[in-house]
Amino acid sequence: MEKGKISVQTENIFPIIKKFLYSEQEIFLRELVSNAVDATTKLKTLANKGIFKGDLDDTSIEILLDREAKTLTIRDRGIGMTEEEVKKYLNQVAFSSAQEFLDKYKDEAGIIGHFGLGFYSAFMVASKVEVVTKSWQDGAGAVNWSCEGDPSYALATADKQDRGTDIVLHIAEDATEYLENARIEELLNKYCKFLPVPIKFGKTTETVGEPEGGDKEPETIEVDRIINNPHPIWKKKPAELTDEDYKSFYNELYPFSTPPMFWIHLKIDDPFNLTGILYFPRIKNSFEVQKNKIQLYSNQVYVTDNIKDIVPEFLTLLHGVIDSPDIPLNVSRSYLQGDANVRKITGYITRKVADSIHDLFKKDREQFHKQWEDLGAFVKYGMISEEKFYDRAVKFALLQNIGDEFFTIEEYKEKVKVQQTDKHDKIVLLYTNDKEGHHAYIASCKEMGYDVLLMDNVLDNHFMQHLEHQMGDLTFVRVDSDTVDNLVQKENTQESVLSEEENNQVKELFTKVVNNPGHQVVTKPLGANQPPVVIVRPEFMRRWKEMQMLQGAGGNDLFGDHLNVVINSNHPLIAQQLIQGGEGQEAMATYVYQLALLNQNLLKGEQLAGFVKQSLDLLGSK
Ligand code: ADP
Repeated sequence: MEKGKISVQTENIFPIIKKFLYSEQEIFLRELVSNAVDATTKLKTLANKGIFKGDLDDTSIEILLDREAKTLTIRDRGIGMTEEEVKKYLNQVAFSSAQEFLDKYKDEAGIIGHFGLGFYSAFMVASKVEVVTKSWQDGAGAVNWSCEGDPSYALATADKQDRGTDIVLHIAEDATEYLENARIEELLNKYCKFLPVPIKFGKTTETVGEPEGGDKEPETIEVDRIINNPHPIWKKKPAELTDEDYKSFYNELYPFSTPPMFWIHLKIDDPFNLTGILYFPRIKNSFEVQKNKIQLYSNQVYVTDNIKDIVPEFLTLLHGVIDSPDIPLNVSRSYLQGDANVRKITGYITRKVADSIHDLFKKDREQFHKQWEDLGAFVKYGMISEEKFYDRAVKFALLQNIGDEFFTIEEYKEKVKVQQTDKHDKIVLLYTNDKEGHHAYIASCKEMGYDVLLMDNVLDNHFMQHLEHQMGDLTFVRVDSDTVDNLVQKENTQESVLSEEENNQVKELFTKVVNNPGHQVVTKPLGANQPPVVIVRPEFMRRWKEMQMLQGAGGNDLFGDHLNVVINSNHPLIAQQLIQGGEGQEAMATYVYQLALLNQNLLKGEQLAGFVKQSLDLLGSK
């Protein structure tokens, strides 16, 4: 037996390894299984080159749990190591790379994927690690290397017959969770589900013999259970796959979730390597729950599902997998954002996503309209947050009017341009976010021949502002923000039938009735067919308030509920009856005002109850 020191350096890194990101302890299994996969792949490469001529029948990797011996073993049938290689790779390469890794990152959380600690991550959970290995090379003897978590190691011959490597972890007292079947299964599922080599863990039963007929009971035998899918569909050619394949893979990734709307298969070799499948979930109006579902892999090794610095924010709404060995994993998040490769990858994915939505749009408009409810939220989010996406999406983003018709932005501008251009030459897009509540306003718009858009998505306020800003030639105006004659501001032509003095008289009366310093009362000659009183909420004030609320200043409301109460001086009730003065005038004004509030969904609580009572009294007095 040979004994030795792992490194000439005196500093002992084992205590640091043990402590390293306690919460990330579990990655040891991924690191060791990945090494086993590498060793297997290397052997296959040697075989392809004709250098290795032995059998490649069974190249699976086995995970063995022995609760009594308190060991967890990772066994591969890969290239193995000679004694020289053990010394070189484990004592020098692995040790110094672990040391380098720790020096660099021990103070830094949030490293993408936490790759890099490699073989020595075993010491996060093991008090002793044994490596029993036999190289593929003819005549190589088996070796047993062991180390108890200090810089000294022991090296001896072993009597292993088969080619390959066993990594035997003697699980430490404080890491006994890794002796639990369920825990290991969980980790294998998380990190190794799509590794390219079959991985066996535990047993399962298989039925053999004839399934039907005969008097014989079907026989069941115990076989190794393969826990991974070595050929995930993202690695295959899209032409070989059916819709069913994509859907069942989605189900494999996210059991029990609603099927996706559609998907994109990503595949690129140059200038970087990336494969993957992105699924479009049904988003509707719920954003937060959707995030962090994309899984990032590097050569089929699971890395993370927190990819927010690798793809643009809005793409995190998508589901699926991205596999790229070209995304640097041993770096911190802040570094990633500046990385040229990552920027290229982001740009590519953004383009590809925009192009495939555009294809859908071109292929089948009808179908596209149906999907818009789910897709719209995503597209709008993308347009607001990502300029490159905006430039493409502006061609297929849709506006929906209250008649459930869909238009691209350009189409809609064409449609309303003649009727709805204001005196500043801006096209006015009228909208409602509440079809029911705004019924009266919408009716007035229809009467004027205006079209009204439905903008009731959580993102629509942002979206509209963004469009106004980007396009410059249009402005969004909510139907309740002004009287209908003024929604699309043109030169005013209506004349009042009341004299100035009468107008003042009406205004005074209503100011008294409205009795709210936050509300502004004005008289205005609307058409005789328009309601006697219209209550509006100026667009600018409302937006300002909405912004305040977004910034959390909602409670501290300086302006109260700022409304404009517009008295239609040309309505017969005002022009003929109220102006005559006399008793009951104030009661009538109050009643008319409350009718307006009611019509516009603004009469609530005590006021509403009072109004109903008053109406009933009126009926009774007849
Ligand atoms: P890395 O895998 O990043 O090179 P590791 O510390 O994980 O670093 O491993 C160091 C080296 O030890 C590997 O490069 C490989 O040569 C060797 N090695 C580790 N595990 C195995 C294994 N199961 N079979 C053969 N060689 C291995």
